[in-house]
Amino acid sequence: MTGVVYDDAYLTHGDPHHPENAERLRAAVGHLKATGLWDQLKHVPARPATLEEILWVHSEDYVEELELICRRGGGNLDVDTRATSETYEVALLAAGGCLAATEAILAGEVDNALCLVRPPGHHALPGQGMGFCFLNNVALAAELALRRGHRDQVSIVDWDVHHGNGTQDIFFDRGDVQYLSIHQGALYPGTGSVDEVGIDAGAGKTINIMLPPGAHDGHYIEAFEELVIPLIRAFEAEMIFVSCGFDGHANDPLARMCLTNTGYYAMTRMLTDLAAQQCQGRLLIVLEGGYDLDAMERGTEAVCRALMRLEPPEPEHVPFAIHQSVTRQVDEWLQRNIELHRERLGV
Ligand SMILES: [Zn+2]
Repeated sequence: MTGVVYDDAYLTHGDPHHPENAERLRAAVGHLKATGLWDQLKHVPARPATLEEILWVHSEDYVEELELICRRGGGNLDVDTRATSETYEVALLAAGGCLAATEAILAGEVDNALCLVRPPGHHALPGQGMGFCFLNNVALAAELALRRGHRDQVSIVDWDVHHGNGTQDIFFDRGDVQYLSIHQGALYPGTGSVDEVGIDAGAGKTINIMLPPGAHDGHYIEAFEELVIPLIRAFEAEMIFVSCGFDGHANDPLARMCLTNTGYYAMTRMLTDLAAQQCQGRLLIVLEGGYDLDAMERGTEAVCRALMRLEPPEPEHVPFAIHQSVTRQVDEWLQRNIELHRERLGV
């Protein structure tokens, strides 16, 4: 059984003219309803995260500051991250929605779940919101599995097109959380090089796969087959989390990767199957970015179908030609990533 978390309150944060706006979620949910998938999902009610939970990964000073900014009517955390008066409460409900879904999975009420939440979270650092993110939803969900679910180690896969610097930072020195990110290089926020591998107990637990613009479904699938899946298996993760951005889609206006619904289905399906073999199914997908509404619809449907182990969706075609030299360059980068990580980690 696949669960879903969604709450109309997620539509109330932010500005309609900002790329990270409520229409993104309206599109995703509307499309799941139109395809009939919505009624086949178990709806897990969201709850607000408690302050105690938020402080698992964020500093008290930052949380107080965020609450104060919102109580005063809103304000900017950085040039493109603006809190409105609703943001604090909505961010608590987004984080808490991911916690509720994790609880439902740990209790065996659902095998896996999709959290259609906003604001997103993977750029949020312990003491600073940035990049449209305020509270780190996926990091909090992983903490819940470790602390209350009594799991020894969990993996977080991040296929948002941007590097999840917040999540990496939170777990950089931790041996109990493996963080694997595949992202476009030379893009916001500028972190995520292959040399960032974790420190102390976390050494070797951060794995960054950075690719140049133009990577397509085949590249992502190869990265999964050669690195992501074998590394999660070797780590013996007891639950798998995904920071799922749809901004790696070919249509996305903020980045230049070339994923389609075929890639999103394949990546989710590989993780669903791995979770079934290794983690009694426990897999949580948390929405991050994605700024083209059509891509949001198709991507969400693909992920949902894979979680439910339904047939893949009708394939889309990339709406432009990818030059051979671009594909060759991505191939070379990917091979270098694979060799480097294999040498380092012995997989
Ligand atoms: Zn992103």
